[in-house]
Amino acid sequence: MGAGLARFQDRIALVTGAGSGIGRATCERIAAEGGSVACADLDGSAAEAVAQALRAGGSRALGVACDVSDADAVEGAVARTREELGGLDVLVNSAGILHFTHTHEETLDAWNRVLAVNLTGTFLACRAALPHFVEQGRGVIVNMSSTAALKAHAWAAAYSASKGGVQALTFELAVEYGKQGVRANCVCAGGIQTPIHESFQLPEGADPSLLRRIMPFTGFRGPEDCAAVIAFLASDDAAHVNGEFVRVDGAMCA
Ligand code: NAP
Repeated sequence: MGAGLARFQDRIALVTGAGSGIGRATCERIAAEGGSVACADLDGSAAEAVAQALRAGGSRALGVACDVSDADAVEGAVARTREELGGLDVLVNSAGILHFTHTHEETLDAWNRVLAVNLTGTFLACRAALPHFVEQGRGVIVNMSSTAALKAHAWAAAYSASKGGVQALTFELAVEYGKQGVRANCVCAGGIQTPIHESFQLPEGADPSLLRRIMPFTGFRGPEDCAAVIAFLASDDAAHVNGEFVRVDGAMCA
């Protein structure tokens, strides 16, 4: 892992959604490249388990219980990262939830929860990190968007709207803070094999042909393939990449 790269020596990263899937793989990749990592997740014990595994491998890592939809919890996660790891250079927003239903049957509560975690949670973490990035004149944000921001995913109205919002937020941040040394990019992933897909259930009466158009035709890939691209965007190798989205979808949207 990391192909011998050490792009995060002396760098400190905070990764949300770190207990599983792409977030976990990103923590592992950044640590493998010499970085210190605050692993934050709604499930505090999952976050701590990831951090513990990283520490066992010789990395500096911290597990943080954090619901990204809770502004105080997010501020607390950023504060703990800075206090206990000594700073903050990279923020990766990977926390996310997904559910499928016919849009005319979507409840307001379910819609609000998806937006609160995926979009507002991303905003809250960026808002908490930005003052420190601006103060030090350097900082990198990588947000998890989705192919759902680029190509219609039936039965995922809230998720699609949230990921379109994440993409627009990313572009906005890149322009607003670019001159202050902050970069913000997002990854539009598709077909990454993680537990998030366990939530998939074809809604009753749904037309399965709508599903085929968003299937990864070269097969699902592991979260490490996504983490490698996140690590590139978070590293100085992407020093002149700002306000960009990168598809990691095996040509699903090509
Ligand atoms: P995952 O394995 O389910 O990871 C998501 C993580 O986020 C889980 O650990 C989850 O914790 C955590 N989480 C959920 N709600 C949270 C909250 N309120 N606060 C903090 N953490 C929370 O799924 P994944 O595939 O790695 O997804 C990571 C990101 O990639 C998501 O934003 C997702 O939308 C995006 N993405 C994934 C794919 C794909 O093909 N897998 C495609 C496009 C985009 P719990 O398990 O405790 O709920």
